Amino acid sequence: MIVDMHCHLSHKDFYPDIYWELIAQSLSLNLGISKEKVLRDMMPDFWKKDASTIVEDMDKAGVDKAVIMPVDFELKVGKAKMSIEEQNRYHARAADEYPDRLIAFVGVDPRRGEKAVELLEKGVTEWGMKGLKFHPDAGYYPNDPVCFPLYKKCVELDVPLLCHCGLIFIPFEVKYNNPMYLDDVQTAFPDLRIVAAHMGGISGVPILAEIGSLKSNIHTEISFTGQMLACGAPQLLLNNLRMLMDLPLTFAVPFKNRILFGSDWPYANSMMNLEEWVNWIKNLPKKGKRYGLKFSGEETRLILGENAKKVLKI
Ligand SMILES: [Zn+2]
Repeated sequence: MIVDMHCHLSHKDFYPDIYWELIAQSLSLNLGISKEKVLRDMMPDFWKKDASTIVEDMDKAGVDKAVIMPVDFELKVGKAKMSIEEQNRYHARAADEYPDRLIAFVGVDPRRGEKAVELLEKGVTEWGMKGLKFHPDAGYYPNDPVCFPLYKKCVELDVPLLCHCGLIFIPFEVKYNNPMYLDDVQTAFPDLRIVAAHMGGISGVPILAEIGSLKSNIHTEISFTGQMLACGAPQLLLNNLRMLMDLPLTFAVPFKNRILFGSDWPYANSMMNLEEWVNWIKNLPKKGKRYGLKFSGEETRLILGENAKKVLKI
């Protein structure tokens, strides 16, 4: 079974116009093309990524199940047309529409306080959602006590936390996304299943090794950072995976059981589409051989789906 642990539906009304302006400005600076051109030619592609679009791509790539999640940026960029409650409902409905294919997580900013806890509880118990997604770069650190009531609720509801780590566009700041903060979270909530997204970020892999080597509930998924490295520095990606999986963890669950496949669909599609990315990971044994690194078929199977099944309890 192939499980994509990190995907997003995307709709213009999930964010206010200023958000799209800021992203366009950021892309314009990064790509050296005008903001108007970005808004006209690139952004509309992100405004119609609904449940049927992702399932179509999953079919092409042979992905059985995907986790979809809203992102709560309201406290950073202002109110969107669709409230965060409506966005979560939208994702839950998409999962209802494709019950065998899509799994929805609740996305909420912990600074919403009691309302955030209520939304998580309602999402999981009434709408069938299966986890919590954090995007700390909206302006909070994952080890801030403001987050703790949500972690407590996750443990009570027996659902995992997936926390964005690493790189992010202007106007968001990378400093909030350091996986090191997840160590405090795991220490305070040892029963919480944590997935550090994006391999902890480009500089986060050794940090994951540090915090996860003796704490077995720290997992990671390989989206975005994975495709970036696969395209630009494949040897580094292969070395990172091998390093994590080769650590002799006599006192913890080996990392080969804690690395999960993810694509960050649709945001990484321009680097590598879902089908290409799945095939890249399927071909790990062949890719590794080029650099003298051995990957087994079993490791590939674990990364592509078996590990996610355990985290999601499906
Ligand atoms: Zn994400």
